[in-house]
Amino acid sequence: MSSCLFCRIAAAEIPAKVVYQDADLVVFEDINPQAPLHCLVIPRRHVATLNDLSPDDATLVGQMQYRAAQIARERGYAEGGYRTVMNCNADAGQTVFHIHLHLLAGRRLGWPPG
Ligand code: 5GP
Ligand code: ZN
Repeated sequence: MSSCLFCRIAAAEIPAKVVYQDADLVVFEDINPQAPLHCLVIPRRHVATLNDLSPDDATLVGQMQYRAAQIARERGYAEGGYRTVMNCNADAGQTVFHIHLHLLAGRRLGWPPG
């Protein structure tokens, strides 16, 4: 989708600090980090919200979660801990309507979230 910010980042039309990419996923640093490590894991394919997933997307979402865990491990956060979050729609605070998994680490994260 040419008007979608994250589709444009995935296509390298808008710059981002990319930390990982493959045929299905792109991972880049959040522009407004909320922790020492704050990356966003996105699928290259446009999916607006979690509500728009189909059964065939289960593997893709698993890849997103797996990649976040790998990056957390590579950065040294596996033992200390980290958080992954996907926000869906207004009540959860979703602001970009292309699904993304937040990976946050490097500080004590409060629970429950705000
Ligand atoms: P949401 O609130 O939808 O769960 O998260 C959207 C995230 O995208 C926010 O954490 C925000 O800082 C990040 N973001 C918004 N615009 C850009 C951008 O142009 N580049 C990058 N790297 N991150 C962005
Ligand atoms: Zn998109």
